[in-house]
Amino acid sequence: MADCIFCKIAAGEVPSQKVYEDDSVIAFKDLSPQAPVHVLIVPKKHIRSAADFAAEDKELAAHIFVDVVPKLAADLGVTDAGFRLVLNTGDDGGQTVPHLHVHLLGGRKMTWPPG
Ligand code: 5GP
Ligand code: ZN
Repeated sequence: MADCIFCKIAAGEVPSQKVYEDDSVIAFKDLSPQAPVHVLIVPKKHIRSAADFAAEDKELAAHIFVDVVPKLAADLGVTDAGFRLVLNTGDDGGQTVPHLHVHLLGGRKMTWPPG
């Protein structure tokens, strides 16, 4: 999608610190890390938010959570200590980039509840 920063990163038009890529997903370090490990897992397809998942996205959603998350957690060394996944959705959910992305945060003890 034109003028979408994460579409541009997925297309290689904007640089990122990539940690993972396959045919349908890219993951890269967050520009403003909130933890020692903070990466964004992003479908290459432009889906605005988790509220916009369609039936055709089931395989993609499963791929992200079943395949990519455990692999990335292992690669980034946070499997045993634990980590947090965050999927901010819409304004009240704190979403600032309108292209669906899952934050994977780790490397420190997380607090709860979030602000
Ligand atoms: P949200 O608030 O939408 O859940 O998260 C958006 C995240 O994207 C923020 O943590 C922000 O730091 C990150 N971000 C925004 N623009 C860029 C960018 O151009 N490159 C990278 N690597 N991260 C970005
Ligand atoms: Zn996009």
